Amino acid sequence: MKKALITGAGGFIGHHLAKYLKHKNYFVRGVDIKKPEYEKTACDEFVLADLRLWDNCLRATQGGFDEVYALAADMGGMGFTAFNHAQILHNNSLMDIHTLEAARQNKCKRYLYSSSACVYPRQMQADPEVVPLKESDVYPAMPDDAYGWQKLISERLCMHYSEDYNFETRIVRFHNIFGPLGTWEGGREKVPAALCRKVAVAKLRNTPEIEIWGDGEQTRSFCYIDDCVEGIYKLMQSDHKEPLNLGQDRMISINELAGIIANIAGIKIQIKHIQGPQGVRGRNSDNTLLKQVLGWEPAISLEEGLKRAYAWIEDQVRWP
Ligand code: NAD
Repeated sequence: MKKALITGAGGFIGHHLAKYLKHKNYFVRGVDIKKPEYEKTACDEFVLADLRLWDNCLRATQGGFDEVYALAADMGGMGFTAFNHAQILHNNSLMDIHTLEAARQNKCKRYLYSSSACVYPRQMQADPEVVPLKESDVYPAMPDDAYGWQKLISERLCMHYSEDYNFETRIVRFHNIFGPLGTWEGGREKVPAALCRKVAVAKLRNTPEIEIWGDGEQTRSFCYIDDCVEGIYKLMQSDHKEPLNLGQDRMISINELAGIIANIAGIKIQIKHIQGPQGVRGRNSDNTLLKQVLGWEPAISLEEGLKRAYAWIEDQVRWP
């Protein structure tokens, strides 16, 4: 039986990954400052610990782990990342530096770091009709905010651990992962969950107006969670040590995203554009390398993924 450690196992991706690895018959230890909010954890062991602290990282990584999935981060959607730069840079740096070094000292065999599409340079994302971003576009570096800078430094740390210590690292750059069992209210939710919530409220209260930050013409691509955990697993098993995009390459605007969700809900909405943080103007994933390295790419359509996410969020709104 292989042994996996998931940091951030109380969070959205970590919780789904724990279920996926249990289906593959792994022994799984999860670590987080909180348990999963919406479902019981699938982990065999769940340790509540603050991974900013060195001693906690050392203890968490003891036990002969074959694979460490480092997913813990102090993060959220634009409503959170745009206003908490110092906190994000401080907390995530401590977590990443300590977790990686502890995993090395405890001779964990492989280590996957969860980076983000936020590492890409701001100037390449200035137009809604952007060219899809390929992994090598990241340098010369100019991420849009502290969250992206911090991810980029931790990517480099992993690459140097691989070169200097022969420590097996993998680096994945997620592009907007969404699905059920993720944060959908409270200020840290990301745009698909926030729009599902707004549309569900509009439907249940029969008040068709929903608010969107900015003009809604900003573009992104969105990847369903089941594809995400499969991609993470495939990357961990591969020999690819350089950063790899993991996302869909179908780019749509936020206005279009709201329209698809409203169709799924079966209602007509009126969009009101208000001021709010929007992040970069456009972003899409170039999946050429992903397909080449893994012989695979995310397959679940946006409509199908949103159907599942919306159904779960409508239930949450109905029965909080
Ligand atoms: P999430 O917020 O749901 O999960 C992160 C978890 O880390 C949370 O449960 C949180 O409690 C935990 N955490 C925070 N501070 C901690 C601490 N001091 N000690 C221990 N645990 C702590 O986020 P997610 O969507 O599951 O993201 C997982 C990883 O993927 C993160 O590293 C994130 O930056 C990265 N990522 C996610 C996306 C996305 O679209 N969801 C996109 C790009 C990158």
